[in-house]
Amino acid sequence: MKIYNTLSRRKEKFVPQDPNEVKIYSCGPTVYSFAHIGNMRTYIFMDSLRRVLKREGFGLKHVMNVTDVGHLTSDADEGEDKMEKAARKAQKSPYEIAEFYTAAFFKDLERLNIDRPEIIAKATDHIDGMIEYVVGLCEKGYGYETSDGIYFDIAKFPGYGKLSRARLDEQLAGGSERVAVNSEKHNPADFALWKKAPKEHIMQWPSPWGMGYPGWHIECSEMSREYLGDLLDIHTGGVDHIPIHHENEIAQSEALIGKKTVNYWMHGEFLLVDGGKMSKSLGNTYTIDTLIERGFSPLAFRYFCLNGHYRNKLNFTWEALEAAQTALDRLYDTLLTHKNAPDSEITDTVPGEGRYSGMNIMDAWRKEFEYAITDDLNIPLALSVVWKALRHHTPNRRIYDFIVSLDDVLGLDLEAGTEKAAEKRAAAEEEAAAEQNEIPPEVLELSEARMQAKKEKRYADADALRARIAGLGYKVTDTREGPVLTKE
Ligand code: AMP
Ligand code: ZN
Repeated sequence: MKIYNTLSRRKEKFVPQDPNEVKIYSCGPTVYSFAHIGNMRTYIFMDSLRRVLKREGFGLKHVMNVTDVGHLTSDADEGEDKMEKAARKAQKSPYEIAEFYTAAFFKDLERLNIDRPEIIAKATDHIDGMIEYVVGLCEKGYGYETSDGIYFDIAKFPGYGKLSRARLDEQLAGGSERVAVNSEKHNPADFALWKKAPKEHIMQWPSPWGMGYPGWHIECSEMSREYLGDLLDIHTGGVDHIPIHHENEIAQSEALIGKKTVNYWMHGEFLLVDGGKMSKSLGNTYTIDTLIERGFSPLAFRYFCLNGHYRNKLNFTWEALEAAQTALDRLYDTLLTHKNAPDSEITDTVPGEGRYSGMNIMDAWRKEFEYAITDDLNIPLALSVVWKALRHHTPNRRIYDFIVSLDDVLGLDLEAGTEKAAEKRAAAEEEAAAEQNEIPPEVLELSEARMQAKKEKRYADADALRARIAGLGYKVTDTREGPVLTKE
């Protein structure tokens, strides 16, 4: 299996430390509001990674954090604590806010068939560990105290910027406004490990530096180490985290542990809406609830996401979601055709000159699917294999079985979806039968007589009968399945 490593900017062969327990850490939500569909795209990417690794036979130990304290309104550690701000606005406690939005978040994961990581770690449950971590960094000379907190001295960490490939001198030169905000910082890009809490800050804990609360970045360094140890196999997040959050995580972790702490960094690209950024002011921070309110199924959004490679930007429009819903419904319906078809061996071989040429077509589909998913999670290519199999010239139960066996990776509820398609078909047939029943017996009799006349080649009689039927307000259309009567 190959995956793209943001650190090396290359696709690399994936070699975990222990294939029975691949150690993955994913940056999770800050639970101060509903997650939007952009966030959900990143968790669908995380889920695809989980599912592909599992299909390839790896065991997983996957940790995701829930940030319920300490993420300031700017990722670069300025502004208010997002949790506190939301709590003040809603006149609730930050804990109530966190609980409410955490529940909403997990409900969204469930609706999108995103499997829960093995371990969910809440920041407020790990404050002691974070304090120890900061103490450790201070002892090693990486942390320094100011009047409002403890900061990480990035000049002491020569590797700063290696993930985003930003140059330290540029980091030091830039951000002059930030210096103005906090003139005690040694360098503008130094970031908070711990913040001293003003009295009005609701969430605060005792520490060697008085009452306070942790910085956002320290949370991920501490919790990943606590559950997964000094070296993770894979760390995931969205691309926005590369330049600040993950750069800071690397600085903290490597400074304390003294060596590399993540083997593969994986980042999901952004979801755009109507070609631009999602923002509250544009009113386009749609949620899964918004999609449901507009009549879409959450899995149509999942299908939409799976059609874009995780490392490419994906543009959300309502038309595109409509197309995804139509395609997913068609996928279920075509699967039903195969499900109801005879079960017989497929002996076709792949024509032409390509990689799979001459191979049995089912073996080729299987191989191509496997190739796609293990080539840096090329799920769009894997889906094209599904469609290739669906469009095979003769319906076959084995095609249904084959495609359903891929749902461990796709997570599209293919079996249940096929059953729903069957219900839909039955309802449509019933409706058609009901329409048929509404046709008066006299018209049906005339239609029968006309068919008989046609059979006996009495075409003049048939035409006369058609005219009589028309006189009663019905039109006859001859189809391969026989005549269809419609009211005019
Ligand atoms: P946050 O709760 O803001 O930390 O975001 C949760 C996750 O969603 C992070 O991994 C972000 O990188 C990711 N994310 C935020 N906005 C988008 C977006 N528009 N498209 C894809 N992922 C996003
Ligand atoms: Zn994180």
